[in-house]
Amino acid sequence: MAEETIFSKIIRKEIPADVVYQDDLVTAFRDINPRAPSHVLIIPNKLIPTTNDVEPEDELVMGRLFTVAKKIAQDEGIAEDGYRLIVNCNPHGGQEVYHIHMHLVGGRPLGPMLLS
Ligand code: 5GP
Repeated sequence: MAEETIFSKIIRKEIPADVVYQDDLVTAFRDINPRAPSHVLIIPNKLIPTTNDVEPEDELVMGRLFTVAKKIAQDEGIAEDGYRLIVNCNPHGGQEVYHIHMHLVGGRPLGPMLLS
């Protein structure tokens, strides 16, 4: 059984976060340390630690991350100019929180693909 992270508490509203979207499958909230004018984390409500733990039965929720990313990008007014979706995995991928999350980053030109 994977260990819960602070993101589970955000999903359950046990600690404050700037939640911009929530449904039965996913929750989206603003990153506490934004790297760009728009920086939202989109996460499954179910605890999946990393992309290495994604199973075929998770395909619906993983697809929902993308449709919610599209909606939030539109809401943020960054869809036309563009944005970047990032999922980090494990130490070499720079993952810090072991509850899988999609970063939606935009609102300015982001430059080369890899963020330092
Ligand atoms: P990772 O490096 O795991 O892909 O990204 C984790 C992200 O979660 C970081 O961008 C970090 O700023 C964000 N983060 C960590 N703890 C919190 C928190 O308690 N609240 C919010 N809103 N974001 C957090």
